[in-house]
Amino acid sequence: MKDYEAVIGLEVHVQLKCDTKMFTRAAYRFGEPPNTLTNPVVMGLPGTLPVLNKRAIELSIQTGLMFGCHIAEVCKWDRKNYFYPDQPKNYQISQFDQPICIGGVVEIELPGPARNVMGEHREVKLTRIHLEEDVGKLTHYENGSLVDFNRAGTPLIEIVSEPDLFSAEEAAAFLNAIRLNMIYAGLSDCDMEKGQMRCDANVSVRPVGSEKLGIRTEMKNLNSISGVRDSVNYEIRRQSKVLEKGGEIFQETRRWNAEQGYTVALRSKEEAHDYRYFPDPDLMPVRVSREWVDCLHAKLPERPFDRQRRYLKDFGLPFTMASVLCQNSELGNFFEEAVTKCNKPLEIGNLVANDLLRELSAGKDAESQGLVLLPIKSGHVAELVKLVEEGVISRQIAQDIFPQMFQTGESPSTIVEKKGLRQTTDMAEIEGVCARIIAENPKPVGEFRAGNEKAINALKGGVMKATRGKANPAMVDKLLRKLLA
Ligand code: ADP
Ligand code: MG
Repeated sequence: MKDYEAVIGLEVHVQLKCDTKMFTRAAYRFGEPPNTLTNPVVMGLPGTLPVLNKRAIELSIQTGLMFGCHIAEVCKWDRKNYFYPDQPKNYQISQFDQPICIGGVVEIELPGPARNVMGEHREVKLTRIHLEEDVGKLTHYENGSLVDFNRAGTPLIEIVSEPDLFSAEEAAAFLNAIRLNMIYAGLSDCDMEKGQMRCDANVSVRPVGSEKLGIRTEMKNLNSISGVRDSVNYEIRRQSKVLEKGGEIFQETRRWNAEQGYTVALRSKEEAHDYRYFPDPDLMPVRVSREWVDCLHAKLPERPFDRQRRYLKDFGLPFTMASVLCQNSELGNFFEEAVTKCNKPLEIGNLVANDLLRELSAGKDAESQGLVLLPIKSGHVAELVKLVEEGVISRQIAQDIFPQMFQTGESPSTIVEKKGLRQTTDMAEIEGVCARIIAENPKPVGEFRAGNEKAINALKGGVMKATRGKANPAMVDKLLRKLLA
C-alpha cells in the first residue's frame, strides 16, 4: 500500500454571517420553528423577483481577501437546474463561469511533534470561491419525509480547493484553517453541528512519483472534521487495495457511513446531473470597484497565523500560548492592549490565556460572550502584573484575586487595599513569624539540617499560611535559611 499516494480536493460550503437571505429580506436564524422564515421569493412563487443581499457580497469578498484570492471585477449569476424536494424553485442561483473570487491559498497548520511545538505550515491552492443560495432541509421518517424551507435561500459560499492536499491530516487542517480564519474575521460562525460548514471530499490515489491524477471518488455532505478525516483515510485505503489487486477505480459519488466507518457507492459519473447552467435573466452582473474592495480589506483583522508568527517573534511567547491568544481576534486585541500598558508579554499572556479564559468558560458561553463587554479591562490585567513586578503582592495573591477582578470589574489595587493583601516586607515582622514556625516544626527543621533541601518548603508554606500569603517569598526564603544556619 506504501506505493500509492493520495490526492485530495475539497469543496467546502460555508454559511455567511447574514441576518437575511441571499435574494430577499426574509430573515434567517438557526433553530426557528419549521417553515416560519419563508416568503414568496424563498418559495419561488410565480411573479417574484430576486434582489441581491449586499452584505453577502461583502462577506464573500472579505473571505476572498483573507485567502489572497483575486476578486473579480465583474461576477454574475447562473441558474443551476435540478429537481429536489428541498429546493422550492427547482433551480439554485449560483455562479458558474464568473465566480466572485478566483485562485488564492489557504495556509494550513499541521500538528507538531508535541502539543507545545509548532507544526509545519503550508499553503494549499484554491481554485475559486463562489456565492450561491442554500437549500432547505429534509427530514426522513419511516412513512414519509418533511421539508423545512427556513434555510432555503440563505447566503452560502463554496470554497473549492485544487487537488493540492495529500493526506487526511492535511484535509482536516484545511478545514480547521478555513474555520479559524472565517470565525476570526466575523464572516461565519462555521458551526458544523448547525450545518454552517459542510464539505465534499474528492479523493484519488496514484503511484508514488506519478504526475498524472488518478480517478477520483467524491464523498458528499460531510458534516464534521473527523468525518472528513476518517472517510478520506478509508477511501485512500480502499482505492489503494483495489489498484494493488489490479482492479479499477470508477468516478462515482460515495456516501460515508459515519456510524460504521465505511463508504458505499451512490451513483456513477454516467448518472451525474447535467445542470443546464444559464445566466439568470432576473439578476444583473455585479461590478466590484477597486475602492469597494480596498474599503472591505481595511476592515479585516490581521490573519490569525500572521499574528501567531508575530507573537512568537516579537513577544517571545511559547507556541501554545501564542496559538491560544490567536484563536480569537478580540482576545489578541485585549492581550496587546494590556502589553502596551505593561511590557511583560509573558506574564500578561499567562493571565489572559489561562486565568481569563478559565473565568470566561466558567461563565459558560465563552465564544458568544463578546470580550468587549467584559467587566475586566486590559488596563486592570496590566496593573495586576505591575503589582507583582513591584513586589506589592505575590504571584499567588495575583491569581487569587483574578476571579474577583473578573466578576466585579474592580481594579486590582482596589481589591488589594480593601482586603489588606499588600505583601509584607517588614523584615522584623517576617523574621518573627519565621522563628515561630521553626520552633513549632521540629521535624522539617531536623530534616533540613540533615541535608534534605526540600524540607524547607514545609516551613515556607507555614510562614505563608501564617501571614495569609502576604510575606514576600524571597525574603521568607532568605530569613528561614539565616535562622536555620
Ligand atoms: P465537480 O464540480 O464535478 O465536483 P470539479 O472539477 O469542480 O468537479 O472538482 C471538484 C473538486 O475535485 C476540486 O476540489 C478538485 O480539486 C477535486 N479534484 C478533481 N480531480 C481530482 C482528482 N483526480 N483527485 C482528487 N481530487 C480531485
Ligand atoms: Mg463536486
